[in-house]
Amino acid sequence: AIEISGLRKSFGALEVLRGIDLSVDSGEVVCVIGPSGSGKSTLLRCVNLLEVPTGGTIRVGGVEVTDPDCDIDGVRRRIGMVFQQFNLFGHLRVRENLTISQRRVLRRSRAEAQRIAAANLERVGLADKADAYPAQLSGGQQQRVAIARALAMDPQLMLFDEPTSALDPELVGEVLAVMRGLAADGMTMLVVTHEMAFAREVASRVVFMDGGVIVESGEPAQVFGAPRERRTAEFLHRVL
Ligand code: ATP
Ligand code: MG
Repeated sequence: AIEISGLRKSFGALEVLRGIDLSVDSGEVVCVIGPSGSGKSTLLRCVNLLEVPTGGTIRVGGVEVTDPDCDIDGVRRRIGMVFQQFNLFGHLRVRENLTISQRRVLRRSRAEAQRIAAANLERVGLADKADAYPAQLSGGQQQRVAIARALAMDPQLMLFDEPTSALDPELVGEVLAVMRGLAADGMTMLVVTHEMAFAREVASRVVFMDGGVIVESGEPAQVFGAPRERRTAEFLHRVL
């Protein structure tokens, strides 16, 4: 679903991504871990061209998004992204948060958009919150609405950038539970996370980044249980 090859990204003189090769197959859950500043968010943001790569190629569903002639809006439409901050429209009810892009971008009828909104609120356990405003919800509920909003667009893959990092500890579990459900349903997911237990349990593959390169990648049991690289072992020692 995603093929990244030789990806480079610089901000001025600062080279943040220094040659990333990574592919995510359909139905895979790839978790990216690594220290602050290692380039994890930049990598994710390059996949839907929120950042324009300095070099290399990225293909999403066979379409080369780094090709200047690519219809990037068409590609972005098929990629769901969930950030640390929930980015809901505060002046709109939950239901409208889920229908607005369906109506405007996918040109769905009001009835169809509402039906799909209801189904996805149900999927994240918030069927009863359709009429609420975001400010009336807990952080965990807001993040689940953000996930439902992304799902309502029928994404072919989902990008998550530390979706639980802004949450109070007691609210993390409900968001991870929704993500587990998506993984079990076969959603293709690229997830930057500090939740090592989640990565260990849910990931098909774990990727450890440091200094703008992939230092190590492998099955969770291997990366967590028997890291091959010293930098990986040192990082895990610090965070576990
Ligand atoms: P964290 O775990 O703290 O979220 P990260 O691995 O996601 O870190 P990035 O956000 O990708 O790291 O940032 C990598 C480096 O790129 C950092 O040094 C950061 O300061 C720099 N950087 C990111 N975005 C920009 C930007 N728009 N302009 C300049 N520098 C940037
Ligand atoms: Mg980040």
